[in-house]
Amino acid sequence: MDFSTQDIKFIAGIGPKRADMLNKELGIRTVDDLLRHYPYKYVDRSRFYYLHEISEDMPFIQVKGRIVRFEKVGEGRNQRLTAAFSDGHGGVIELVWFKGIKYILDKYKVNTEYVVFGKPTLFNGHYNIAHPEMELLSELPPVEQMGLQPFYNTTEKMKNNYLNSKAVQKIVFSVVQPLKNSNLPESLPEYVLKKYALLNLKESLQNIHFPQNAKILNDARQRLKFEELFYIQLSILQQTSWRNHNIKGLLFEHIGYYFNKFYNDYLPFELTGAQKRVLREIRIDVGTGKQMNRLLQGDVGSGKTLVALMAMLMAVDNGYQAAMMAPTEILATQHFVSLTEMLGDLGVNVALLTGSTKLKEREKLHEQLRNGELHLLVGTHALIEDTVQFKNLGLVVIDEQHRFGVEQRARLWRKNVNPPHVLVMTATPIPRTLAMTLYGDLSVSVIDELPPGRKPIQTFHYYQDKRNALNGFIAKQIEAGRQVYIVYPLIQESEKMDLRNLEEGFEYMREAFPQYQISMVHGKMKAADKDYQMQKFVEGKTRIMVATTVIEVGVNVPNASVMVIENAERFGLSQLHQLRGRVGRGADQSFCILLTSYKLSADTRKRMEIMVRTKDGFEISEADLQLRGPGDLDGTQQSGIPFDLKIANLAKDGKMLEIARQTAMDILEEDPMLEKEENKILALQLRKMRNKNFNWSVIG
Ligand code: ADP
Ligand code: MG
Repeated sequence: MDFSTQDIKFIAGIGPKRADMLNKELGIRTVDDLLRHYPYKYVDRSRFYYLHEISEDMPFIQVKGRIVRFEKVGEGRNQRLTAAFSDGHGGVIELVWFKGIKYILDKYKVNTEYVVFGKPTLFNGHYNIAHPEMELLSELPPVEQMGLQPFYNTTEKMKNNYLNSKAVQKIVFSVVQPLKNSNLPESLPEYVLKKYALLNLKESLQNIHFPQNAKILNDARQRLKFEELFYIQLSILQQTSWRNHNIKGLLFEHIGYYFNKFYNDYLPFELTGAQKRVLREIRIDVGTGKQMNRLLQGDVGSGKTLVALMAMLMAVDNGYQAAMMAPTEILATQHFVSLTEMLGDLGVNVALLTGSTKLKEREKLHEQLRNGELHLLVGTHALIEDTVQFKNLGLVVIDEQHRFGVEQRARLWRKNVNPPHVLVMTATPIPRTLAMTLYGDLSVSVIDELPPGRKPIQTFHYYQDKRNALNGFIAKQIEAGRQVYIVYPLIQESEKMDLRNLEEGFEYMREAFPQYQISMVHGKMKAADKDYQMQKFVEGKTRIMVATTVIEVGVNVPNASVMVIENAERFGLSQLHQLRGRVGRGADQSFCILLTSYKLSADTRKRMEIMVRTKDGFEISEADLQLRGPGDLDGTQQSGIPFDLKIANLAKDGKMLEIARQTAMDILEEDPMLEKEENKILALQLRKMRNKNFNWSVIG
């Protein structure tokens, strides 16, 4: 049996109890799991400090010396134990314990040589270290061999059971020590290691936990990061290549009447360069005989819907039907209205299918879909219900990807013998590294150009005390015929409080603007009430919309020209950008006002600056990734990254990701089934990985 697959409870020095705790708390079961539980930081223990050298900005230091005396200070619950610790060179520091006093007095002896380890703090002009780590000098290896000490993440429960970082370190050591002479197999092919001069696996694992020096630690990190990114890319790309080989795509052979007629006679404006480019990309895809899986990214208002419509006309021209799916009823309805308007009397039949489509109408629709009378169907989830049967579905457009699970995408495919082409549209631009990982199986098109003549939205950051002045501005805008959004944050943990904020905000606006009707919308409302309120705003009956972020995605009210975001500090960059995109959709100058309190963290201040400075969604998403790290990005949670990154970081390791992806591509190009002798190791690793932590249903 390969060493790495052994259950850790059988490893000498770990035992069933601690193994059980590690399994329950951190999901660590095998030697491999433990070896892959990487330290989150390292502290230099390769030298001792003298006390005259220390300063408060030092992180952790170690000092060699003796306890001169102990002293108990205070009474009862406030009692603490202090010890004067001398380094033997004239320096004395105070060690302090607030807990476990009896234990400490039992364990540590005066006048014995210890190494004390901890973070010094300055108090009343003297340095002290609270709850230091202490070890007998005689029990430590020579300092030159100590190197960088690893620190491990643990849980509260683990700490309460004496499994702190230090204890984990010891446990890890018990699997790292036998590593060198174990049968642990290398996980990357020899030729890949050679090509990029990567450290081998055993040495990498040894040094990621117990680095001999900073240089080799870096080499180990590089190797493990590469491996992680490489296998993710390899598995994504292998799926894609499998699909390309085994699934027959529909062939749209020509551009025909509807497309040309629409383009020449119905399109009221010139396409932007970016729209033309994307249409060409789609055209090539659907002409290859392979199934298209394409992600279309473009900021709100960049004209994605129009591109989707023209792609759907390509389907119709080739005798196929097309469907467009939106995440909410409001959005589906909006799409339906705008498609119907644009198509005019072209002769393409479009219908809307949502949860509230009446039974009779629904039956008629089903009939028309089956007999092919209907060309285009716009709808919500209702569209993927099993009773809906198409005669010949050729293309599915999915708007706002992150609300749709990949499982739902897969269900759509099953509606034909041959799966339809899929075009996924999103207005949440995501950085390239994230796209390669999240949507690595999709080809990506980008609309990076807005239609001409748009007035850029003006963005301002104000403190809350500008409220009154702001009201004057809002009043002017409404008098000029415009509409206004006021958005409040809604954060799960404090829903009640947020709702109160929203309701108070609503009351406040009602008092400030008694002459106007105001809509209020939030996530806790019944769908019907929400739709009713939205609809009133869409029709212009209400002039002000007070809402939570439920209005974030896709709602289109071109007459709305002011977006006020309350407590803007509580929103992430991508979310602010999405909200801002609700305005600036008409011909009028639009405004986005970010309201915050005075007290802002440096990060928040930066977020506000970025929002005021740029409108470029890609720049914003990139900044978001840098500021918050990949785990927190809007949209990614819902779409669910199907794996954990243990060591690589999508915000920082973009370059390496590119290399890893390219390497995987090259390998698959030569050996798509990974059958060559030198690639067997890759197939084996992929199998291990899929058995373990990949939820493959989500990759579709
Ligand atoms: P998105 O779906 O990307 O948010 P839409 O397709 O809804 O954007 O387009 C936003 C608005 O811009 C619509 O009113 C649309 O008719 C208009 N539009 C789209 N493309 C162009 C263009 N090339 N020139 C002028 N206006 C355009
Ligand atoms: Mg849209």
